[in-house]
Amino acid sequence: MAKPSSTFTTIICIAMFLIALLIVVREYTSETTGHLSQDITTRLAEVSRRVADDFDRNIDSQLIELQNITSFMAQEDCRQFKKCVLYYAPLLRAAGLKKFALVDLDGKGFCSDKGEAFDLTSTGKEELFYHALSGSAGFAAISDGKGSKIAVAIPLSRNGKVVSILLGELEDRVMKKNLVTRAFGDRTCNMVFDDKGRMLFWAVPPGNDIEKVFPQMEEKGLPPPLREYLKTVFSDTQSQTSRFIKDDKHAYYLTHIPLEKYGWQIVSLLPEEVVSHLVDRQNAITSTLAWRMSVLAGLVLLFIIFILQRYNRTIRRQQEDYRSIISSISGGVIKFAGLHGNFQFISPNFLKMLGYRKEEFLQRFGMSFAHSIFEADRESALRTMQQQLDSGIPIDVEYRTRAKNGNLIWLYHKGSLVQAGPGQTYIQSIVFDSTHNKEAAQAKRISDERYQFILEQHDIIIFEQNLISGHFSCSARWIQTFGKVFNILEPDTDLSLIPVHVDDRELLEDFQKNVHHNLHESKLFVELRLRDTSGLYHWYRIEASNLISAQGKPIYIIGIITDIDKQKLLELRLRTQATRDSATGMHNKRATEQAISRFLGMHNNLGPDVYAMFMIDFDNFKSINDRFGHAVGDKAIYQMAQIIRRNFRSTDIVGRVGGDEFLVFCTEPMPMQKIRERATVLVHQLHLQCGNHDAEDVPLTASVGIACNPSDGQDFTDLYKHADMATYEAKRRGRNQCVFYAELTVSEQQNARDSLLAEENRD
Ligand code: GH3
Ligand code: MG
Repeated sequence: MAKPSSTFTTIICIAMFLIALLIVVREYTSETTGHLSQDITTRLAEVSRRVADDFDRNIDSQLIELQNITSFMAQEDCRQFKKCVLYYAPLLRAAGLKKFALVDLDGKGFCSDKGEAFDLTSTGKEELFYHALSGSAGFAAISDGKGSKIAVAIPLSRNGKVVSILLGELEDRVMKKNLVTRAFGDRTCNMVFDDKGRMLFWAVPPGNDIEKVFPQMEEKGLPPPLREYLKTVFSDTQSQTSRFIKDDKHAYYLTHIPLEKYGWQIVSLLPEEVVSHLVDRQNAITSTLAWRMSVLAGLVLLFIIFILQRYNRTIRRQQEDYRSIISSISGGVIKFAGLHGNFQFISPNFLKMLGYRKEEFLQRFGMSFAHSIFEADRESALRTMQQQLDSGIPIDVEYRTRAKNGNLIWLYHKGSLVQAGPGQTYIQSIVFDSTHNKEAAQAKRISDERYQFILEQHDIIIFEQNLISGHFSCSARWIQTFGKVFNILEPDTDLSLIPVHVDDRELLEDFQKNVHHNLHESKLFVELRLRDTSGLYHWYRIEASNLISAQGKPIYIIGIITDIDKQKLLELRLRTQATRDSATGMHNKRATEQAISRFLGMHNNLGPDVYAMFMIDFDNFKSINDRFGHAVGDKAIYQMAQIIRRNFRSTDIVGRVGGDEFLVFCTEPMPMQKIRERATVLVHQLHLQCGNHDAEDVPLTASVGIACNPSDGQDFTDLYKHADMATYEAKRRGRNQCVFYAELTVSEQQNARDSLLAEENRD
C-alpha cells in the first residue's frame, strides 16, 4: 500500500495538473475567440469583395444585354413607340426590366405599363435621361417616396444620332440575385446603398429570412447606430472598411465596399451571434478535447504513479530480501570504497562475529577497511587483494583481525568490485570466521602426515575406498605382496582379477556385499586365501571399517589386510589334532561322539531299516603287547584300523574310541540281516596273525557288539552303552564273534551292566 504522504502528493499533483490545464484551456479559448473574430472579419471582407465584384460585373452585363435589345429597337420606326414598346416588352422584361418606357428626345413616349403615354417630368429619372441624351447608357438609384429603385436609361441611336431613349426600372430580384452569399451558414446580409446613403436593396440567401439575419430591418430599417456609423463611413472614406459594431441589443461584423462606378456602397452584415456560435462550437470542441486529453493524461499519470509505486515496492522488497539474506548469512557483509577506502556498510553479523558494537568497532579501527586487518597480515592481505582485483578475479583471501575479547580471529574474505556509476566503484564482500577451519585444517594436515607415515612404515597392508568418488588406493605394501592393484571391495569387479582361492570366492563375495550393504556396520572381516607374488595361496584376514561423516553418511571404507597364514596353519593343525587319532587318522572319541550325535540330531529314522553302531574291541590285546612289545601292538592296531575302514563306506562314521576299541556308525539304514552279515564278515576279517611272522605268531581277533537306532537307543549315550554291553557279552561268550544288544537276555543285560559298572568304578 502507498504511504499517506505519497497519496497526498499524488492528489496535489493531479489537482495542480488540472488547474494548469484549466488555465491553458481558458487562455486557449480566449485566444481562439480573438483569432476567430479576426478571421471572421477578414473572411467577411473577402466575401463582401467577391459580392461587390459579382454585383458590379452583373450590372455591366445587364446593361450590355439591354443595349443589345435597344440596338434592335433602334431599327424600328421612331413614330411607332407604342408598338415597339409592346413588341419588345417580353424581351426587356426577361432582361430584368420591371417596367420601362420608350421616349423621344423630349421625354415623351409610351410606358410598358398598360401601354400608357409616358412623361418624364417628375419621375426622378430626368438626370439619367439627360445623361442618355449625350449617348451614354447608365444606371441610377432613384427615390420614389416609398423607397429606392434602380433606374436605367439607354439611348437608341440610328446613324450615330440618338433617336430615342429607353427608360426603365430594374427588377429587384435581378439586382438581389448577385448579392446573395451562402457564406457563414446563410447568415450574411448584403445591402446596397446609393451615394446619398439610401439603402437600395438588400439580400439574404434564399430560404432564409431577413428577420433571422437582421431582425430590425423589417420594422425600422437600419438600426440607428448602424445608420450613424454608415454615414460616417460613406462620408469620410471611399475605401473598403471592416468594423465590429454593437448597440444595446445586437452586435454585428460589418464590411463596407464602395462601388466606384455608380457611387454606391455595398455593406455586408454578419450577426455577432454567428461568430459567437462558431467560437462557442470551437471552444466546446477545444474544451472537450482538453478534458479528454486531461482525463487521458490523468490516467497516464495514474498509470505512471502505479508503475512507480510498484517499482518502489519491488525495490523495497528487494532491499528487505537483501537485508534478510545478509542477516541469514553466517558470515558478515561489508562494503568499502576500495582497499584503502572507508567502510560504507558493515552488517550486524560482521560486528557480532568480532564482538563489537558499531561505535566500538569504529572507535577501534576508524572508518578505514585496511586498518581492520591485523597489522602483521595487513600488507600481504592487501597486496593479494590488489593482485586479484588487477587480474579481474574475485577477492579470495584470509587474514586475521583482532576481536573485542583480544583474540585474533581468522577471517575468510570473499568479495568483488562493483561499478556503481561512472568512476564510482566499491568492494562488496562476505567475510566468514575461518578460525575453526584453519585449526581443523592444521589438525588434518598433521593427521594426514601421521597416516602417511603409518602407511609407509607398517608391515600390514592398508587400503581405502572413497565412497563418493569411488577411488580405491592402497599402501606400497599391497604391490609388494600381490604385485598389482585390484579393488577387493568392489562387488562388480571380475573375480578373476582378484587372486582369491576358488574355494574362498563365495566368502569374498559375501564380504563385498556386506561391506557395501552394511555401510553403517563399524567393522567387517573375512579370512581367505589370496595368491601372492610367489604364486602360492596364503591365508589373509581382510578387515574393513567405515568412516562416517559429520552428517552420519559413510564417506570412506578403510581396510587392512593381515597375513594370517602361520596362525591359520597352526590352528588347522591344532584342530586336526583335537579331533583325530594320530595313530590311525580316524576320529578320536570326542569327534566320533560329536559326529554321531550331530547325525542323530538331524535324522529321524521312521522306516523298517535301522542305523547300526558297531563297537569293536580286540581280544586279549594286552598279551600282544606283553609278548611282542608295544611296537607290534601299535602296528596291529594300525592294521586292524585299516581293515575296519575298508569294511565301511567313506560316509560312515569311524573312530578310535579307546586303546584297542573302535566305534563305527553306519549312516545308511540297513536291515538287521545285512548288519549281521557285515558284522560277521568284519569279525572274520579282523582275525590276524600277530607277532614276528614266525612260529611264535599268535592269532589276534576282535569282539563286536552291535546296537541299533532307533530300537536300542535314540541318542549316542544309549547306543554306546548298549553296544558296549553287547561287546561285553561277546567277550563273555568266548570272543571273536559279534553280538546284538537286541538279542541279550535280561539276565545277560543285567550281568553286562553290573560288570561294566564295576569296571568303571575300578578305573
Ligand atoms: P579283552 O579281551 O578282555 O579285551 O582283553 P584285553 O587284553 O584286550 O584287555 P583290554 O581291552 O582291557 O586292554 C587293552 C589293552 O590294549 C591295554 C593296553 O595295554 C593295550 N593298548 C591300549 N592302547 C595301546 C596302544 O596304543 N598300543 C599298544 N601296543 N597297546 C595298547
Ligand atoms: Mg581288548
